Amino acid sequence: MKQIYIKGLTDERYIRPLEHIGNLFFEDTKVLYREPEEKADLHVEFETEIIGHEFIVKGKLKELKEETICNGHADLSQLTDKEIFKQMKKAISKSYLLMLQEYTGMVQKWGILTGIRPTKLLHRHMQKQTPIEEAHQSLREEYLMSDEKIELMQKIIDRQLAVIPDLYDLKKEVSIYIGIPFCPTKCAYCTFPAYAINGRQGSVSSFLGGLHYEMEKIGDWLKEKNINITTVYYGGGTPTSISAEEMDMLYERMHDSFPNVENIREITVEAGRPDTITPDKLEVLKKYNIDRISINPQSYTQQTLKAIGRHHTVEETIDKYHLARKHGMNNINMDLIIGLPGEGVEEFQYSLDKTEELMPESLTVHTLSFKRASEMTRNKSRYKVADREEIQEMMKMAEEWTEKHDYVPYYLYRQKNILGNLENVGYSKKNQESIYNIMMMEELQTVIGVGCGASSKFIHPVTGKITQFSNPKHPKTYNESFVEYTDKKIALLNEHFSLEASK
Ligand code: SF4
Repeated sequence: MKQIYIKGLTDERYIRPLEHIGNLFFEDTKVLYREPEEKADLHVEFETEIIGHEFIVKGKLKELKEETICNGHADLSQLTDKEIFKQMKKAISKSYLLMLQEYTGMVQKWGILTGIRPTKLLHRHMQKQTPIEEAHQSLREEYLMSDEKIELMQKIIDRQLAVIPDLYDLKKEVSIYIGIPFCPTKCAYCTFPAYAINGRQGSVSSFLGGLHYEMEKIGDWLKEKNINITTVYYGGGTPTSISAEEMDMLYERMHDSFPNVENIREITVEAGRPDTITPDKLEVLKKYNIDRISINPQSYTQQTLKAIGRHHTVEETIDKYHLARKHGMNNINMDLIIGLPGEGVEEFQYSLDKTEELMPESLTVHTLSFKRASEMTRNKSRYKVADREEIQEMMKMAEEWTEKHDYVPYYLYRQKNILGNLENVGYSKKNQESIYNIMMMEELQTVIGVGCGASSKFIHPVTGKITQFSNPKHPKTYNESFVEYTDKKIALLNEHFSLEASK
């Protein structure tokens, strides 16, 4: 842990943003505001001054040989108190970032941005019809973002708008996320609501009873208000862990309950774990015209799968992929993870080579945080975790591989507090992009979550403010309270969509 002493600021609201920026450079940082200076590893002094409408900040990092003064400034004219604070925070953050860049020699390509969804910033400019060069310049100046990342975002947004030309008008519709919290076994690194299907967490059939109820009620509400569904996404857990009969009944319920199912632009079912895919389940998917599925190898190195507790073989992934193709699945996504324990450039190249033999319609490349990678390894001394440079090298390999094979990046998200300040990128063959992923990532539409652990996001039609609402994670709690949770969601929907109507 790096302790950084900050002098010259007293507002506690700066602590968290400064820690987030510090974490881009060091594994874990703590900002010392009031503690004695002697405890600190680094010492930063800020001088702030308001001259006219301008907020000027000077930062000095004592440990730098030559005294470095990094200035930030903000124009405070005609702003509310909240906006003034935001501007000051930005100016302080920029000064802080510049000092740490100089001290460590690391350059942060995302600048001071530590949020999960950077593309939203550029979307905002596009919606306001800011000329492109002006929008890019503002990202450079306001956040110190690099041209490389700005270009990546522009490429992604251009692709999104090509696939969904009416993206900015879709707030009058909704998307639906359906959470099925079961998996054959629990993987070591899993952070999702996922319970072993044969465990003691409450029976699958009573969970499905609750889920059918929610789908029916939400469907009734949508029909009554004449609101269409853009996309449906079955996630979890692994939605294909339930039996073929249960899947059949569930999709039948979807057809009976939801409005205009034939017009839904995309229905995806995650079939992440290849050990859950069977011919009869694939036939059920086909019966209901569900053609986008996700089969996730994560890695093609058997030893890695073993280390992370995934109880299936590499061959099984490949076999199930071919089986899905045989059963007519023509839009398959595969996930790879960079930075799994024991994996470096060589293993990742092997995964890319294997992917080349399959050529799924889309490939999502995730990066794992170092901390998480070492935590999830049962045998820590045996599995090394790649360092920052190697991780970056692997990301570059993914970029080059996808470009060479005509995949385009179409969504990205970042993770907070991880060394290397990385991003996860969804690549796809043209016109095979997942519309749900775009809707979810850009937060331009309400997403209603039903089922276990499903979170809903209600987007305020005027201000764009997001209200989150989560269903219980545990199947037993869900079974006891799904009626109450459905009522609460319908109340939130009424609130948001009556505003939309009164606009
Ligand atoms: S398959 Fe996915 S959801 Fe299921 S336990 Fe593994 S990581 Fe978690």
